[in-house]
Amino acid sequence: METTEKTFGICRYCGQMLNIKSYLALHPNIDDPDEDGIATLICDCKEARRDRDAHEAALRGESDRFEALQKAEDVIEELFAGNTHQKRIGVDEQTREILHQLAERIYGGFVDKAVITTTDGVKATVKSTGSAAIGIAIERSETKKEKKEI
Ligand SMILES: [Zn+2]
Repeated sequence: METTEKTFGICRYCGQMLNIKSYLALHPNIDDPDEDGIATLICDCKEARRDRDAHEAALRGESDRFEALQKAEDVIEELFAGNTHQKRIGVDEQTREILHQLAERIYGGFVDKAVITTTDGVKATVKSTGSAAIGIAIERSETKKEKKEI
């Protein structure tokens, strides 16, 4: 073991010097450890704990978002991917991707409602429901018109 190896870090909040040896032992792939950062991570002072809680909440929020958008994607696939059984007109993949992006914007609160009508006459509506759940409604309707121009 190198004698120059730093095994102490200082918590950025309380200034307490902490032994980070066991943390480094548990995370052997850290090449260039940020001693103070690690000390702050393992410190038990109030500020460091609050920082960790906020970080964990952010991670949880990220997984909720991921799950919500995954569900939106499933619904979009279910409604708009072609279904030969039901003789449903499929909407092409790129357009489905746009619908997914719209669901993402609605989930983020940037867009309230969007309607896309394909040249095949499939109308896709993605809108906010304002509910506490995921809060996205996805609708499909078809405007089956037959018109002959002569
Ligand atoms: Zn601290």
